Amino acid sequence: MNQLKDARQNVLNEIKTACSHAKRDENSVQLLAVSKTHPSEILAEMYATGQKSFGENYLQEALEKIETLKNLDIEWHFIGHVQRNKTKHLAEKFAWVHGVDRLIIAERLSNQRSSQQEPLNICLQVNIDAQESKDGCDPGEVAGLVKVISQLPNIKLRGIMVIPAADNPAAFVDAKQLFDQVKIQHAHPEDWDTLSMGMSADMSAAIAAGSTMVRVGTALFGARDYG
Ligand SMILES: *Cc1c(COP(=O)(O)O)cnc(C)c1O
Repeated sequence: MNQLKDARQNVLNEIKTACSHAKRDENSVQLLAVSKTHPSEILAEMYATGQKSFGENYLQEALEKIETLKNLDIEWHFIGHVQRNKTKHLAEKFAWVHGVDRLIIAERLSNQRSSQQEPLNICLQVNIDAQESKDGCDPGEVAGLVKVISQLPNIKLRGIMVIPAADNPAAFVDAKQLFDQVKIQHAHPEDWDTLSMGMSADMSAAIAAGSTMVRVGTALFGARDYG
């Protein structure tokens, strides 16, 4: 318990310091706790330290945790790759989906989100540094996608998510530039407020470039055991 609390406090301090260096308001960066591979009890302990938003990558694992922890007021983010046949559960159970990189995925999420629920928040995943093995649309596709996706009902297109290669802080600057450029294409530009970038090892560089949401796993929960 104390260990999780200390780890979270350290991460919050790092965010605060990075904001102060960048002359940004410390509340302009949200901490998303990436809890993949960690059991529900650990999430509940982290929640007790004040952490409300959690990010998961694997749908089956996430659905089990959502069910187990349904009495906690957790905001669930899906940050894994979105497969076309998995959109229904995402639309029903999550508050945010970060890995949207095609129109068909956004259309399915919009169709499958109930109009009784809050709109589903989504980010476009962009392959900002042209990595061969990575998911995400090309930077050149973003403006066109924003134009169309921002008009769909039941979803709110909030911004961009990137996972650049390690040791490439210039990619964060490119993402920020793209983020600022395409706002004008948005049907509801006031919704366009989220730049999801930065993980345990590079959150300070991401914040310096303009990140508004860092996705942090290892620095909060320790190393993951995929065994
Ligand atoms: C696992 C994961 C993270 C967290 O990475 P850490 O290095 O453990 O902080 C962030 N974003 C995505 C998309 C991930 O898959």
